[in-house]
Amino acid sequence: MEFINSLLELDPNHILFVLIIVFFVLETFINRPKSVGSKMNHLFQNFLFQVIVFAMGSLLAFIIITTYGWIDDYQLGLFNSVAVPYWMKIAAGVILLDFSDYWVHRWDHRFPLLWRQHRVHHSDTSMDASTSLRVYPTDLIFFTVGEMAISIIFGIDIMSMNIFLFILIPMLFLQHTNLNYPVWIDKVFGWFLMMPNYHKVHHEQDQFYTDSNYGTLLILWDKLFGTFKIKPVKEINYGLKEFIGSDKQSFLFQIRSPFMNIRPVDKES
Ligand SMILES: [Zn+2]
Ligand SMILES: [Zn+2]
Repeated sequence: MEFINSLLELDPNHILFVLIIVFFVLETFINRPKSVGSKMNHLFQNFLFQVIVFAMGSLLAFIIITTYGWIDDYQLGLFNSVAVPYWMKIAAGVILLDFSDYWVHRWDHRFPLLWRQHRVHHSDTSMDASTSLRVYPTDLIFFTVGEMAISIIFGIDIMSMNIFLFILIPMLFLQHTNLNYPVWIDKVFGWFLMMPNYHKVHHEQDQFYTDSNYGTLLILWDKLFGTFKIKPVKEINYGLKEFIGSDKQSFLFQIRSPFMNIRPVDKES
C-alpha cells in the first residue's frame, strides 16, 4: 500500500517528461505504421502546448484541491450518504470520472463553439505520442470542470482522481503513439479498454470516423451509446483537411485557430 501511495504521489509533470522521452526514442527506432516529417519540430510545436499547461498547473491544482476539500468537509455526494466499502467507492470513482470525460468529449464534437478549441487536438496530420500534448488549454479546463461536477454529485474520493490520472497519462501517450502494436494486444485488452488502434480511428479526417470512439480509458461508453467504430490504422488519414499544410500545423496558428472562421473542407471534395 505504501508503494502504491508513493507511486500515486509522483509529480504528473515528471511522469510526462519521462514518457515524452521514452516514446520519442521508441518511435524513432521501432517499426512505425506511418512516416512523419520533421519529428523534432513536430514535438517542439506540440510541446509548446504543454508549456501553457505547466503555467496553468496551479489553477488546475486549485480547482481540484478546492473541490475535493469541499466534498470532504461537507460530505457531499451520493457515496458520502450511503455506506459503501472504501475500495468500491474508489473503483466507482475512477469509472465515473471516465464517464464524465466521455460526455465532455461528445459535447466537444457536438457544439461548434467547443469544437473550435477541441479541433486543435484533431488537427495533427502526422500523429505521434506528442499529439497527446496538443490539447487547447480551455479544453483541459472543460474536462476538469466535468470531472469536478461528477465528483461533487457522487462524492468521489480524491484517491480515485489520483488513480485516474495515474492511468490516464500513460494511456494517452499509448493511444497516440506511432507504433505498430501486436494484434493480440487488442484481443486481450480491447474488450474493456480504449486501445490505441481504436483511438486512432477518432483521428481520421473523415468526420464519420472523427465522431466516434470518444472514450478515454474504457470502451464501455462507446459500446453502450453506439459510438464505437473501427478502421485499420494503415488506412487512416490523420488530422483535418482544413489544417493540412505546415503553416497550419504551427503552434502559433493552432493557438489562434479557435478565434478564426475555418470552414470544414467538404467531405466529398
Ligand atoms: Zn475528439
Ligand atoms: Zn486523441
